[in-house]
Amino acid sequence: MTVEGPAWTASGLRTGAGKYPMAVEQHVMALAARLVPGVTTVTPHARYYALHTLAAAEAEERELDRRQAQDLLRRMEVALAAVSFVHHDGKDTSLGRAHGTDALAGRLRSRTLSMPEAAVAGKGGYVQASWGFSGAYFGSELILGLLNEKRGPGPACDVQVLRSGMGELVDIARRDEIVLSDLADYGHLCMCSAAGAPDGRWLARLLAGSDSRTPDREQTQARKDTIQLIARIIDTHPVAHLTRDVGDVLAFGDFLVQDEETTRNPVAAVWRGLVLRNHTVGAWRRLWAWLVDEVAGLTHISDVASAFADRLPPGPLSSFLDSLPGNTLPSGQPADAERQLWNGYDAPDRDLAILAVGARRVDELTGDSLDVFAGRRDQELTPAWFAALLADARSTSARDFAVRLTKILIARSERVALAKARRRADGTLWFPARLRVLEDGWLYRVGEEGRGDVNMRLDRLGNVLAGAGVLAWEDGVCTVTTLGRELLA
Ligand SMILES: [Zn+2]
Repeated sequence: MTVEGPAWTASGLRTGAGKYPMAVEQHVMALAARLVPGVTTVTPHARYYALHTLAAAEAEERELDRRQAQDLLRRMEVALAAVSFVHHDGKDTSLGRAHGTDALAGRLRSRTLSMPEAAVAGKGGYVQASWGFSGAYFGSELILGLLNEKRGPGPACDVQVLRSGMGELVDIARRDEIVLSDLADYGHLCMCSAAGAPDGRWLARLLAGSDSRTPDREQTQARKDTIQLIARIIDTHPVAHLTRDVGDVLAFGDFLVQDEETTRNPVAAVWRGLVLRNHTVGAWRRLWAWLVDEVAGLTHISDVASAFADRLPPGPLSSFLDSLPGNTLPSGQPADAERQLWNGYDAPDRDLAILAVGARRVDELTGDSLDVFAGRRDQELTPAWFAALLADARSTSARDFAVRLTKILIARSERVALAKARRRADGTLWFPARLRVLEDGWLYRVGEEGRGDVNMRLDRLGNVLAGAGVLAWEDGVCTVTTLGRELLA
């Protein structure tokens, strides 16, 4: 089970020990969890929130034991996947693919589906876990008050509403054999049909509106403010891709301080700091993955450092820094320097430039944005720490600085891996680093490092909100629906 908040972040890092070799991601992940409680990177679909809640209510009413309750829930998940598959002729819905569709694909292409066989947890079934896909949603469903700690219906469960939206899914789930062509009549139960349906409205109100049944958590307000902020940006800008387009408005430009509605939003400045910080986190991750890729067979640390140095111009570091695009607009707000510099993977010079731009922002941002962005000066890889490192090295050559930075990063990866290393039951050591450091500076690697950006949950939140009918996509552009406007007013 995963629960959000600091605990969620901690457990996420533990289980993903090999995934975060630089341990530079926690701050962004923890803050995203605080700003968007109830939606995580593994809860993309609105209708599953309703499905799991209805399953819990049915199980309670029928006094099902644990095993029976699990069976009902899994059958309902299979039914949702089957209905959605039929509704879209086997193609993905605009909201993505129902959970378990890939494992079920063979069965869904036959004429009939045996529910007892499809809904098995484990070998041959659509899922491994006995609670189906609800494990991924459970922490979020607890936060929203849909379920209680014992997986029973929570304070926000409204069984009448859920039955009027999805009650027929329970009937389909109870059948032992399903003729797939019969499901064509049930398009209103598809993943894509929650928008406008009673269960979609119910979830929309819990996420974005005011509902007295939502547990009174401090973070509920942060989520509502975040949704308000995103909706306002969608209303005023062309948004085709939430993380990129909304993220850019959050990070750069004057909108946050000029738009009257947005200036009043208490999380706007926090998001600015978070998105800007995530640009530096992404740069560290790409730079580290690139350095590790330079290790082929047995490679000496000096060769990796030289490879990085060769990507930088000759001359002092100060010249490199002075050649970078400006950080700020005439108004003093951030210019999109990180966006201009970004050049994907295999551009360590650009990643260094993005980090240097971030270092400058430590002196330019103010208030909540600065608090969220800068980090502690005595904490490695924070913008504040990097600013101090650059200031100290300005007169050295850029290439010498690359060598120094390479050594710092390799030493850090060793420390991070050692802190996470565990003794296995058989006495051998489990050591998560993909890069191994031998004596005298020799290196070898046992795999590639992750290089993707840390997910700030904006896309997942957008998908859940679109599923619940708060947002909609029209010709590839995101819009706020009438329901969304009503809830957010
Ligand atoms: Zn559909």
